[in-house]
Amino acid sequence: MFRHAPIQPPPVGGAPTIFYFVDNRLLVRLVGENAELADPWAPSNGSGVSGSTAGSTATDSAASGGRRGSGRIKVVRDLFLGMLDDKPCRVVELRVADEKSFEPWRSGGSAGTDGSGLSLMGIRSLLGRMDDELLKVAGVASQVLDWDRNHQFCGRCGTQTVRSETERSRSCPSCSLTAYPRISPAMIVAVLKGDKILLAHNRRHRASHVFSVLAGFVEPGESLEECVRREVMEEVSIKLGEIRYFASQPWPFPDSLMIAFTAEYESGDISVDGKEIAEADWFDKDHLPGIPPHGTVARRLIDWFVQSRSAHGASP
Ligand SMILES: [Zn+2]
Repeated sequence: MFRHAPIQPPPVGGAPTIFYFVDNRLLVRLVGENAELADPWAPSNGSGVSGSTAGSTATDSAASGGRRGSGRIKVVRDLFLGMLDDKPCRVVELRVADEKSFEPWRSGGSAGTDGSGLSLMGIRSLLGRMDDELLKVAGVASQVLDWDRNHQFCGRCGTQTVRSETERSRSCPSCSLTAYPRISPAMIVAVLKGDKILLAHNRRHRASHVFSVLAGFVEPGESLEECVRREVMEEVSIKLGEIRYFASQPWPFPDSLMIAFTAEYESGDISVDGKEIAEADWFDKDHLPGIPPHGTVARRLIDWFVQSRSAHGASP
């Protein structure tokens, strides 16, 4: 279980769990289809010297084991996240001086002599390939890292900010503007019409031709319900009846919280906006197009729809 905490508690037993990132990609070890957290300085036999160098401000791999003699890996950021299973949990951002030293990581370990199986992967691509709790905390790590990196300077006056010692924030010593990690709420909705669900193909996903439920970001001053109605009207020209809360899911790509709803169709014919949505239609449970992967709240909504129509064919 993970508990948020901005401040490192007094030393406790057990090695810390560390999420190593390069840019927005997490360092993992691939074992078949599954991914595990990896330590760039652990011996290649994986026998577990872990995290001994984390916390230093600059570490050279050659100086801390020499496994990557040609590589220069630096710690540029090291942030405490909280406690994971009663052990401290941190996120560490790495930077490499020599891109070539990353080749074994990029290729999933098949290249290079270390045979490490190390790889840098976007956490979105780890959905379903990593322990759920660990992946969730990887999302926390990614968001906290992104926030810290993006608020080094005050957005109002440009002064260098200072990290708080009592809470997760960065403040400007000149004008006192304080920046907290930002969460951007977005709604996602399954629009239902009898035994059919509205699914749309987004222009951004041209390559995959996946159809999904509609989604959109909440505008300033807007309630979630207003957002649901507006987005559905804007994107497919459908007016909604009753809206019901379904579930929520952190979506750290980079900083969203998805709030899922189901909604009843009220009136209108589908007319796509042509900008965001390329194609949309009503689908029954037996004739679904390509849909999003497991691990997404969109998929949960669609699975719920299929199940509800299979069980008793009733409305939600
Ligand atoms: Zn300022």
